[in-house]
Amino acid sequence: MRVIEHIAKATGPLFSYEIVPPPRGRSIKDIIEVVETLAPLNPPWIDVTSHSSTTYFQEKVDGSIQKRTLKKRPGTLGICGIIQNRFKIDTVAHILCLGFTREETEDALIELSFLGIENVLALRGDTPNFQKQVRPERTINNYASDLVGQIKGLSEGKFLDELDRADSLNFCIGVAGYPEKHFEASCLKSDIQSLKRKVDAGADYIVTQMFFDNNKYFKFVEQCREAGINVPIIPGIKVLRSANQLKNIPRNFYIDLPEELVDDVENNPEHAAEIGKRWCRKQVEELVNHGVPSVHFYVLNDVHSIVDIVRSFK
Ligand code: FAD
Repeated sequence: MRVIEHIAKATGPLFSYEIVPPPRGRSIKDIIEVVETLAPLNPPWIDVTSHSSTTYFQEKVDGSIQKRTLKKRPGTLGICGIIQNRFKIDTVAHILCLGFTREETEDALIELSFLGIENVLALRGDTPNFQKQVRPERTINNYASDLVGQIKGLSEGKFLDELDRADSLNFCIGVAGYPEKHFEASCLKSDIQSLKRKVDAGADYIVTQMFFDNNKYFKFVEQCREAGINVPIIPGIKVLRSANQLKNIPRNFYIDLPEELVDDVENNPEHAAEIGKRWCRKQVEELVNHGVPSVHFYVLNDVHSIVDIVRSFK
């Protein structure tokens, strides 16, 4: 089922989850265990992130340096197929512009449709990953709005080549939104204009970057509505786990942490996980009472805290 159908049919709070494929070389076992842990919560859908190749240098035993370009976390499509077909849980595959040609994207979308997957989250990705030289006969999407346009086109049977008797591919399309603005945007207003471009190109819903202050989300939704964005805006939430994350989260995700949370963790670093969980539960409670379309949890390595939080609402 499509994400927007889940939202439309919901009779109580919805909780969705985002998981990350294992690093290259590791078995699928760990991620299956995460899905098995989430399955009893009856997730309406689970997102699986996508990772383009990164280039890095590796020292070989003879001392020479080898340049390698590889995906550090391959497997998005395969994992989506397992969740959808073995666990019968609707799956949202993340699809990136950067690191992929439009031709590769079309192939991936065909594979997803063959796997019975009806949902994708269309993202640009981040520039350091974009190392691949694009041959002149290949094309790329620069922004997520271009990618949304490509995916939407397939629902009208518009493949890159004109095909005889092509069936359309109908995906429910999500895009990313940033309550504290995307780090490259000059201001929140212009970032919301970029978000509107994605919705105008055909996005059906928005999932936000994580935030730890609900007021930022409420204000963002208000500003999006004023800008004429009318699709569901799903809040993205993460549980803070350690005192180190007080530095890492703002640095990696370009967001602020509330002073009250920072003070509490700094004064009691050994209880950081407990404080983070309590904070998250309070955030979720307020969001649910506010009637948000769903709460989307960034699971990362912390499935058990999330299970505890969600169980307390069931
Ligand atoms: P865009 O919407 O393309 O915007 C990127 C920047 O360009 C913004 O500053 C925007 O304001 C600006 N912009 C947009 N359109 C234009 C235009 N036409 N002209 C000028 N400026 C423009 N990354 C991964 O690698 N894999 C994942 O699986 C993944 N999942 C994510 C899930 C969520 C819910 C979120 C919030 C982020 C995720 N990311 C993921 C990170 C994402 O790829 C980065 O945040 C990336 O920097 C921006 O992606 P976007 O789709 O928001 O880009």
